[in-house]
Amino acid sequence: MPGVGLRAWLLGGLALLAAAPPPPNVVLIFADDLGFGDLASYGHPTSVTPALDKMAAGGLRFTSFYSSSPVCSPSRAGLLTGRYQTRSGIYPGVFYPGSRGGLPLSEVTVAEVLKTRGYATAMVGKWHLGIGPNGTFLPTHQGFDHYLGVPYSHDQGPCQNLTCFPPNTPCFGTCDQDVVLAPLFWNLSVVEQPVSFPDLGARYVTFAEDFIASCGRRNQPFFLYYASHHSHYPQFASQEYTGQTPRGPFGDALLELDSSVGHLLQALQDSGVYDSTLVFFTSDNGPETMRMSRGGSSGLLKCGKGTTYEGGVREPALAYWPGRVAPGVTHELASTLDLLPTLAALAGAPLPNVTLDGFDLSPILFGSGTSPRKTMFYYPPAPNSQLGVFAVRYGKYKAHFYTQGAFHSGTTPDHDCYGLTPLVFHDPPLLYDLESDPAENYNLLDEAQLRPEVLAVVKEMRLRKATFDQQMKFGESEMGRGKDPSLEPCCSPQCTSRPSCCRCPSGSHPT
Ligand code: MG
Repeated sequence: MPGVGLRAWLLGGLALLAAAPPPPNVVLIFADDLGFGDLASYGHPTSVTPALDKMAAGGLRFTSFYSSSPVCSPSRAGLLTGRYQTRSGIYPGVFYPGSRGGLPLSEVTVAEVLKTRGYATAMVGKWHLGIGPNGTFLPTHQGFDHYLGVPYSHDQGPCQNLTCFPPNTPCFGTCDQDVVLAPLFWNLSVVEQPVSFPDLGARYVTFAEDFIASCGRRNQPFFLYYASHHSHYPQFASQEYTGQTPRGPFGDALLELDSSVGHLLQALQDSGVYDSTLVFFTSDNGPETMRMSRGGSSGLLKCGKGTTYEGGVREPALAYWPGRVAPGVTHELASTLDLLPTLAALAGAPLPNVTLDGFDLSPILFGSGTSPRKTMFYYPPAPNSQLGVFAVRYGKYKAHFYTQGAFHSGTTPDHDCYGLTPLVFHDPPLLYDLESDPAENYNLLDEAQLRPEVLAVVKEMRLRKATFDQQMKFGESEMGRGKDPSLEPCCSPQCTSRPSCCRCPSGSHPT
């Protein structure tokens, strides 16, 4: 029997161990252009999403979760850096295959943060934060040990690249022409061009499963960033999922995404790390309603991709960690910007020495308190320092100082969403109570009898916008560096009839 002193010391050590659990593994699943109303757990009547339903039922489902931008590249910059995209220069719009710019290497990504605590890191799928000369900006230069993926949107290449089932059937829709066929990268090399989209989901899953299994065998904490191409337009799915849902091509693509979520959860089980892994699911921006029924749904929210209405940036979000995150629903305010500080806190990693725009969400995840986030600022796809943020959410209120339509958000009956709807300055701002009116239908300043507390809210909103705009330092625009066709990824760089000659020898599948 140990003496009293030794026993106390042992118990003290055990208490310390209990107070500081080992860093969790993290699987961050990022959908593309998936709207607030697209999942069954968010009310869609015909989506088939059994794995995401399981995460929603067994995890924490957010109802006020925001991405930092209504379009792809800036949203991904915000997710990975915990900083508004304006700081890192990821504006206006998105990167193209031949873009000279990318997420600056000086930015600290969440992968780099977690690596300081010994994490293995891997990324699968859509990067969309630049390629640059010699792959300067690819994930393996941004904190990821491994990368497999198509590094931009799958419509940023000729559509003949995008065959659907049955074989050699072009997928419905138009894509960018006069650019290289979409490539599949393995770390810094193009290993398949054109990539076979119907086979892509399975390859991504296998890569992710292998990564999880190898980390599990080594007992090494890991961070897996799984950025699916689903459900960005044009929709595609492998034969296994085509025609399998009542929702048509969008539903089939979403089912394929859901199935990959199911495979990832199973891989965690198989490696014995199910209870020591936080799985987080969300999307980069709202639905592209210009594609009609093939473009996704923001549900009851107004407009979609490209706008600063709720449908542009409010996203489904699920946090799943059996035994640690209690099942439930939270209406607390949260954002993709908060993931870096949250994951750093969970891992015990120091925060980068830069201005961050995110907060540690641990109080919401573990039910110990309210969200540290009280405010959300909304930037359009092409922000500038003169106009500053277009809208501000503070608590339950949202004020629009500027509104503008977006071509991505066409075709619904609401003309405010349309691409030809011009920029309008609102003074006083449009003001909505998002708790009683999440659809942004009823401007509180239209009410005949203005209540003093509403006027106080307007004053507060003006102050918050002015203060935030004043402190925001815009980084130099990476998109402003322009494009160079010779930078487009090419599997046969010496070939002479670019872009169409950029193909890998057939039958080569090194991954
Ligand atoms: Mg997107």
